[in-house]
Amino acid sequence: MEQVKCLIIGSGPAGFTAAIYAARASLSPVLYEGIEPGGQLTTTTEIENFPGYPEGISGNAMMDDLRRQAKRFGTDVRTGIVASIDTTQRPFRVAIDGGDEILAESIIIATGASAKYLGLPSELRFRGMGVSACATCDGFFYRKQDVAVVGGGDTACEEATYLASLCRQVYLIVRKPFLRASKAMQERVFNTPNIKVLFEHNTAEVLGDDDGVTGVRVRKNDGEEYEIPISGFFLAIGHHPNTELVAGKLALDEQGYIVTVAGTSRTSCEGIFAAGDVCDPHYRQAIVAAGSGCIAALDAERFLAANK
Ligand code: NDP
Repeated sequence: MEQVKCLIIGSGPAGFTAAIYAARASLSPVLYEGIEPGGQLTTTTEIENFPGYPEGISGNAMMDDLRRQAKRFGTDVRTGIVASIDTTQRPFRVAIDGGDEILAESIIIATGASAKYLGLPSELRFRGMGVSACATCDGFFYRKQDVAVVGGGDTACEEATYLASLCRQVYLIVRKPFLRASKAMQERVFNTPNIKVLFEHNTAEVLGDDDGVTGVRVRKNDGEEYEIPISGFFLAIGHHPNTELVAGKLALDEQGYIVTVAGTSRTSCEGIFAAGDVCDPHYRQAIVAAGSGCIAALDAERFLAANK
């Protein structure tokens, strides 16, 4: 059976950065790209806040660059999905979708997280054309325009206040009669004059044309519906970490994120490391994921050196 020193699962900035470092440390990493090659960045438009790209870069172009850089140093990038990991013995026995099995002396989990969407057909139609799940990534495109944010948690409040600094008017669409966010975040929202909180409202449909979003039709809990003209529609109803593969095998927090030893990428299983959004409920930024991918590769290298 094939045996690899370092198996990396996931192909976002965390996975590819881990691959670059692992490959340069002669660990001959094998990287499985997973269901969404390139990860969440491939679903955004322009990335303007990743250091080193003064003119910005498209998410797809950045992921192509990272993939090429990882391959240049010898990473074996494979299309495919890891189906299961046996964590009870080392090297770990890993099953790949399709039937292959490999043995891995160390594993870096970089499977990311996925933003939750409402599930409306109109939301899907305008994804990347005015519908976004990342205000930090895309808010800048709606400067001086009107936008809506859906959600009542800390993320929604944070994104609404961020957007309020750029946009003319921000509508916060909240399904309950109260915000779930912390008191401090609530106060920031209520003290920001260009945020209008629409309590007990749901999204019935995202409206638009060939150029993108033009409005949203909201439905009040009493059944009344009306339209609001907007050009950006932001989801902030939570993320779910992609940890199905390791559920029951690694320690997860109450939201399902992989728990790592503070300041490291070490998980509850020796020899398995985590990087990127799969273990980061707070920051969820590409640059942070890339940095944590570097940490995971360095941790894996040290682990392998100590366990020859
Ligand atoms: P949360 O799960 O806390 O909040 C999700 C929000 O989205 C809730 O208001 C929820 O409504 C709403 N929602 C969920 N599904 C739907 C739906 N289908 N339609 C309409 N609304 C919906 O997620 P967050 O991402 O806000 O936060 C995740 C964690 O990260 C929290 O622990 C939070 O405190 C933390 N965080 C902390 C920050 C900080 O401290 N600066 C910043 C950002 C996040 P309802 O209330 O009705 O369930």
